[in-house]
Amino acid sequence: MNAVIDRWLHDHGDDMIAWRRHLHAHPELARHEYATTEFVASRLTEAGLSPQILPGGTGLTCDLGPSEGARIALRADMDALPMQELTGATYSSTVPGISHACGHDAHTTVLLATGLALAEIDDLPVGVRLIFQPAEEVMPGGALDVVAAGRLEGISRIFALHCDPRLEAGKVGVRLGPITSAADTVQVVFDSPGGHTSRPHLTTDLVYAMGTVITGLPGLLSRRVDPRTGTVMVWGAVQAGQAPNAIPRTGMMTGTVRTGDHQTWSLLEPLVRELVDGLLAPTGVRYQLEYRRGVPPVVNDDISTRMFEDAITRTGEDALADTPQSGGGEDFSWYLEDVPGAMARLGVWSGVGEQLDIHQPTFDLDERALAVGVRVFTNLILDS
Ligand SMILES: [Zn+2]
Repeated sequence: MNAVIDRWLHDHGDDMIAWRRHLHAHPELARHEYATTEFVASRLTEAGLSPQILPGGTGLTCDLGPSEGARIALRADMDALPMQELTGATYSSTVPGISHACGHDAHTTVLLATGLALAEIDDLPVGVRLIFQPAEEVMPGGALDVVAAGRLEGISRIFALHCDPRLEAGKVGVRLGPITSAADTVQVVFDSPGGHTSRPHLTTDLVYAMGTVITGLPGLLSRRVDPRTGTVMVWGAVQAGQAPNAIPRTGMMTGTVRTGDHQTWSLLEPLVRELVDGLLAPTGVRYQLEYRRGVPPVVNDDISTRMFEDAITRTGEDALADTPQSGGGEDFSWYLEDVPGAMARLGVWSGVGEQLDIHQPTFDLDERALAVGVRVFTNLILDS
């Protein structure tokens, strides 16, 4: 069966690159992936498959192989970022202000190619569901749309690959346990009567109160939460006041709380509320706290991680790489609330020049990684 995959990759290697470049040049934002959906659906239909578009009109799933027994799901995300591309590539984004700076064009291409290659095998050992998911880049993420549409029913295990420019093309990194973090947003809006800075005792000192929260909340969290959970609170924006001698009436600060531990994630909101309340009570400053929960951490289970390791090792002797847990959030975790699974990092660095991170305007990838991704995914299916 692996000979079929070899032949498919040999015959369609150029097609894969052309598909990726087409998608790259025509990026679409979250929940607007209409042309991307149509592009994928057409190619699957041409191959005799029956893709099912999600109720929202973007994103699709497609089943292959035996219908009896539980299926294995393979997931790709399809959306681009609201960011101007600055790679200078000939296949650069044709849409001003939107680009595939997170490599979802590659994820979509790898999964499409995987589906078409597997479709050439008559007796797949297990049923497969391809999940082309919309809206990974927005909170709480399109994975919830897929789950809500019932497309996780009948799935026993789910896998995903994400581009990683810290790894060279040909390498794929996986780790047991948390691989991404939960990422929640905290915003506090402060309110005071304001006043003259010569008489802070006659009002409530809003800037002083904010200062206690700026340093106090991250500090107290590090003492109330086990540091081994990788829990980190950082303020990203703080605004208040204008004049040196006036106590302002309003202020705002916002930041993120991240954790690699699922149980800690469920406890963070009440803890943050308790600590902010305790810090501000003696200052008398009124406030409103908005806590927005993001996504849980992606936690790779042991069987899925071992399956990934085997599948990666079979693509090449040195292919399997270590990878750290990242502080970034990834909505793949919503699937793992329902079924076990794992995410791995697909190396996309060319090995020459700088390793440019994702989510910045000059990110591009080494297209040799596309075939590696297809081999990892097809190995997962053919050897299960
Ligand atoms: Zn991404």
